[in-house]
Amino acid sequence: MNERVEFDKNPCIQRIEEKCTRCGLCKKTCEKVNNIGNDCIKCGQCILTCPMGALVPKYDYQQILNYLNDTNYTVIISMAPAARVSLINELKLNPNNATKELVGILRKVGFDYVYDVAVGADLTTIEESLEFIERIKENNFPLITSCCPSWKKYAIKHDLDKYVSSTKSPIKMQGYIVKEYTSKFINYSNKVINVMLMPCISKKEEILDTDDIDFVITTRELIYLVNESNIDLETVIPSDFDKLAGNASSSGIIFGTSGGVLEAVLRSAYYFINNEDMPKNLLNKNLDNNSLFMENTYDFKKFKINVAKVSTMAELQKIDIHKYHLIEVMACPGGCINGGGQPLNANNENDEKRLEKSKLLQDIDINSSYNNSYSSSEVKDIYSYGIGIPGGKNSHKKLHDE
Ligand code: SF4
Ligand code: SF4
Ligand code: SF4
Repeated sequence: MNERVEFDKNPCIQRIEEKCTRCGLCKKTCEKVNNIGNDCIKCGQCILTCPMGALVPKYDYQQILNYLNDTNYTVIISMAPAARVSLINELKLNPNNATKELVGILRKVGFDYVYDVAVGADLTTIEESLEFIERIKENNFPLITSCCPSWKKYAIKHDLDKYVSSTKSPIKMQGYIVKEYTSKFINYSNKVINVMLMPCISKKEEILDTDDIDFVITTRELIYLVNESNIDLETVIPSDFDKLAGNASSSGIIFGTSGGVLEAVLRSAYYFINNEDMPKNLLNKNLDNNSLFMENTYDFKKFKINVAKVSTMAELQKIDIHKYHLIEVMACPGGCINGGGQPLNANNENDEKRLEKSKLLQDIDINSSYNNSYSSSEVKDIYSYGIGIPGGKNSHKKLHDE
């Protein structure tokens, strides 16, 4: 009998015992990707490689279907960029109009408001870049990104949490935006159910400590939800995201691919330090998704910044983190585009699919004239009406995990 991964009270993954042949592939995947023994960090990579479909995320979409059918609730969904590029093939969307078509589908299945998690990512970028500037002043390095809850679990277990940014992840930011900020302008007459559509299973656990978010559903669950809603996709009317949290910069969108958070934070940090946009020759140096590790050096005029991006814990274990000032760490190979909640072929055709989805996000950034989180008028309004000064005392209270 082959060894297999074991889960103890796992809030993110379940195994269907009747389907499991004890082939041991899940264990091999876990060793290759994370090399962490039995300390599951909920990345979900074993789900993607189980040949029998015996491993699945804990499903929440049935409960959401019930809320969608109950007129006593206002059901709001925010969509992550990495989820939307995966749905192009699954829902047969036009790649040039995929986001609008998806928003239309979400409205058709009954969501009352549809927002963009990339706006939350813009807030994460602003706060994390200001935190990085504080670290520069204190000469306290490295600062390591905080978006990936699986990485954060690993950091706590391995005494690395002192390096992890206190800035909240994009979905926690989005939870605040939807529950506390949009409600200042919209009179939601019913009780709000706040749903996040993510490529990630780990985020099902991440939200357990907040009242701002009610459910995380994965990309795969969204496909089931659409299928069970019996809507006619031909009759969907493409639509924009709702205002207040629907006009993210492309910095917020590239969070979905490895190197994207690093890139976004560097652009904003450069702007806050030098009072000008990052020069074109320094842009997009971290976004190549061909390898799990990359390092770069940036000339910030007053000093040089050494940065690295790394995905998978196995890869992280090979590097000396003290060589860098700023590091992006993601648990899944290639970042969230390859998350455990993505469609099942994501890992079987791993490299090809990963690169394809990464390119879609990079193209959005390249073709956008709106590349920086600090330019977002929605982000400026969120600070003006709810928080105050970016990086200030109230920001730390509301937008950081202290
Ligand atoms: S990969 Fe799937 S079938 Fe094989 S041991 Fe793991 S859970 Fe069972
Ligand atoms: S979810 Fe990730 S860490 Fe947990 S057993 Fe599967 S591959 Fe390993
Ligand atoms: S890399 Fe992204 S999808 Fe994977 S565990 Fe981290 S946050 Fe979730």
